[in-house]
Amino acid sequence: PCISVCAGAGCLASGAAEVIAAFKTELEFHGLTTEVNTKGTGCPGFCERGPIVMIYPEGICYLKVKPEDVAEIVSHTIKEKKVVDRLLYEDPATGTRALRESDIPYYKNQQRNILSENIKIDSKRIDDYLAIGGYAALSKVLFEMTPEDVMGEIKKSNLRGRGGGGFPAWRKWEESRNAPDPIKYVIVNADEGDPGAFMDRALIEGNPHSILEGLIIGAYAVGAHEGFIYVRQEYPLAVENINLAIRQAAERGFVGKDILGSGFDFTVKVHMGAGAFVCGESSALMTALEGRAGEPRPKYIHTAVKGVWDHPSVLNNVETWANVPQIITKGADWFTSYGTEGSKGTKIFSLVGKITNTGLVEVPMGVTVRNIIENIGGGIPGGKKFKAVQTGGPSGGCIPEAMLDLPVDFDELTKAGSMMGSGGMIVMDEDTCMVDIARYFIDFLKDESCGKCTPCREGIRQMLRVLTNITTGKGKEGDIELLEELAESTGAALCALGKSAPNPVLSTIRYFREEYEAHIRDKK
Ligand code: SF4
Repeated sequence: PCISVCAGAGCLASGAAEVIAAFKTELEFHGLTTEVNTKGTGCPGFCERGPIVMIYPEGICYLKVKPEDVAEIVSHTIKEKKVVDRLLYEDPATGTRALRESDIPYYKNQQRNILSENIKIDSKRIDDYLAIGGYAALSKVLFEMTPEDVMGEIKKSNLRGRGGGGFPAWRKWEESRNAPDPIKYVIVNADEGDPGAFMDRALIEGNPHSILEGLIIGAYAVGAHEGFIYVRQEYPLAVENINLAIRQAAERGFVGKDILGSGFDFTVKVHMGAGAFVCGESSALMTALEGRAGEPRPKYIHTAVKGVWDHPSVLNNVETWANVPQIITKGADWFTSYGTEGSKGTKIFSLVGKITNTGLVEVPMGVTVRNIIENIGGGIPGGKKFKAVQTGGPSGGCIPEAMLDLPVDFDELTKAGSMMGSGGMIVMDEDTCMVDIARYFIDFLKDESCGKCTPCREGIRQMLRVLTNITTGKGKEGDIELLEELAESTGAALCALGKSAPNPVLSTIRYFREEYEAHIRDKK
């Protein structure tokens, strides 16, 4: 038997470390330590109900486990093979209990191709990753595929970048590969900074080897021998786990000179970001990697051609790299069997705000917003009405109730005036003031704008001034039009932060104009 306890940052904050310690003590008391293995694992996503405990081989899923529940779990479930009912998921409508993950609606309505691996492994042990088939894709690539074969498979999968605008990964890879410069780099963008987003954190904390394996495969395909993992320093557990993963991979011959005797060399370093949101932008990130102030530059020449120290540099986010080993192992046809015409595979979202089940959700591209909010998220708590969901973070926009049946993919969200972004979903209920929401995001961006170009630096400040006036009863006629005009001017900004900054304002004006008008009319 094995007891897996989620040891992701969310569950640790809810007491998972104490739960793990209690299991170890209790098992020792019963003389079961050699028979039963207890391990801390990656995050399975149901953060609302953490700490989560899984009992294998039965696959029993206990939620909100406290140290004081542990004695009962050991005596009942481990020793007597009985279930502790009160710790199982309870359907709020029918009162029925769900024994396994697959019986819980939150999980049943997802397609967890990537996330499902987290709970199976102790992310601090490479052997756990190897036991679920880890590094098999790398072996396949190095010994059975040419770099062209790998490029072909990634192109066929039409994997699009999961970190922002959904740019096809293969195009970046190809541009870099075809660049004549023999020195090339591959980089993981783990500078996840959108308010409410924590998908990348859970992946690096929970399954760091999958990202590393994807990165090495990418390096082989484009001809790079050096890589970087740019991770925010505010994610200490992610930093610790990825550093440990690199050390362990090097000890086993997956990183370093002559990987597995294939003749391919690859080394990788972790670089900690210093907390600037704009460093999630490719050129700013690469400037920061060079040790300079992380400011974007004009990208007439793509970073895939001239990136870090002017060498071709392929930058993809955490989730994009994590998809690569699975595409190689299971094939592009498997990957494209999920998703829509233009957006293939699955996507991980962090579901937060006014929603019953907060946590991480992985669904095939193309599922509707309604499906995510109602069937997975369990609807709005306290009997309140759904009002909107903000997708894409500060660069995204709000989707109103009338668009609940919108399929979630890169193109449909953009058409609706929002964007996929990295996958943050902030749910709002009937009590939320949409002008306040727009003001919140603009205030965030005012602090995060690097100030290099005028349309962004000044445009955002002016939008914030107008929004503050409106929300404090000092709004006047013409303010909405002024906001629209200011939004247009930020189109001339240098990077995506400034260009997309007006999205939360424009989308809330588009779908909730009456709230702006009411603030101005009623002076409150
Ligand atoms: Fe800096 Fe904003 Fe200009 Fe980007 S758009 S370079 S964040 S000032």
